[in-house]
Amino acid sequence: MSPSSPLWRPFTQHAVEPAPPKIVRAEGAWLETATGEKILDAISSWWVTTHGHRHPAIMAAIAEAGENLDQIIFAGLTHEPAERLARELVALAPAGLKHVFLSDSGSTAVEVALKMALGVFANRGETRTRIAVLEGGYHGDTIGTMSVGERGVFNAPYEPLLFEVERLPFPAPGREQATIDALDAAGRRGDLAAVVVEPLVLGAGGMRMYGPATLAELKRATERAGALFIADEVMTGWGRTGTLFACEQAGVAPDILCTSKGLTGGAVPLAATLATAEIFDAHYSTDRAKTFFHSSSFTANPIACAAALANIGVWRDEPVAERVAALASAQRARIGRFDGDARFANARVRGTIAAVDIVTPDAGYLAEIGPKLRAFFLGQGLLVRPLGDVVYLMPPYCVTEDELDRLYDAILEAPDALGLRP
Ligand SMILES: *Cc1c(COP(=O)(O)O)cnc(C)c1O
Repeated sequence: MSPSSPLWRPFTQHAVEPAPPKIVRAEGAWLETATGEKILDAISSWWVTTHGHRHPAIMAAIAEAGENLDQIIFAGLTHEPAERLARELVALAPAGLKHVFLSDSGSTAVEVALKMALGVFANRGETRTRIAVLEGGYHGDTIGTMSVGERGVFNAPYEPLLFEVERLPFPAPGREQATIDALDAAGRRGDLAAVVVEPLVLGAGGMRMYGPATLAELKRATERAGALFIADEVMTGWGRTGTLFACEQAGVAPDILCTSKGLTGGAVPLAATLATAEIFDAHYSTDRAKTFFHSSSFTANPIACAAALANIGVWRDEPVAERVAALASAQRARIGRFDGDARFANARVRGTIAAVDIVTPDAGYLAEIGPKLRAFFLGQGLLVRPLGDVVYLMPPYCVTEDELDRLYDAILEAPDALGLRP
């Protein structure tokens, strides 16, 4: 039986999922449905909304940009929103990142990073084409980004099209050395072009967390391997882990950094891949064959660039760092509520992100528990979207302590309400 809407939704099994609520208004941490219900957006609309929905400065910048510009071809022409954004991003990013390639989604930002890395060695006449990644990683849903991400039910049908990569064991607490050893071993083969990591938090892989010291170790091992270090900060950027970029906590300056989601405060799509002079210079040549051959129709969309500039303005003009710190400490203050409770395990916080595993025999992403939990939370006016048995909170920074209490209360009630037993 087909649903009544022609829409084919992302990550949605239409045969088993109920029709979604229709949202007619968004403001701050709240969404409002066509029937007047209020829903607290505890996952920042898939991790994009940082300050809150419809931040006035960002919405005003979007409206203003539209008075003069719409999409302008970005090969052979330029415009001020992109010029300014590139300068601002270089000023904010970890040291050494000097060039900015604009695209339109996190997946594209990572595809661009992979192509840049391979381009460097191809243009130098070196045969380095292998990529190493962290087990459990997620970098997008295009063929290239699925290849460097975790394999599973999500991408099994496309397996024949995915390229092989070197998988490093996840640096779980106490087992970090195995990850570094695996990277060193891969590096000794001399064919490694790049290492791709989500710094500090593996998002879609279940909010798995590792420390800044390990991130710094991974960077050093990548240098020993003679490979390029790609930080996929698509989720972790813009304050999520407590600092503007997660790499800052480890003092790591990546060769390539990917950012998207919070780049425009989450209002409109935009992505940037930042690269060092070394990477740009490897493509800089009178030989046109060494051009970086990548584009998308909407590269550097002026309205999206204006939104990103406004987001940077909000970071500059408002106490965003303080809000991030306050949310991080509010999460830390509450995460202890799961201590000693056999229904929960691995309660963890990194910056503004909190996560806990629900202990149940039917774990895993496809377990029925995911949709059941989602329905339970939605019934309470809370948008929480567990990754299988992993329940996480990644709210916009404007969320209040009372709202956070409601979320923790609901998580603590959920296992009994759903009859889940450890
Ligand atoms: C969401 C995400 C992506 C993909 O971004 P899209 O905009 O959905 O294509 C890539 N990497 C990480 C770490 C992400 O969380």
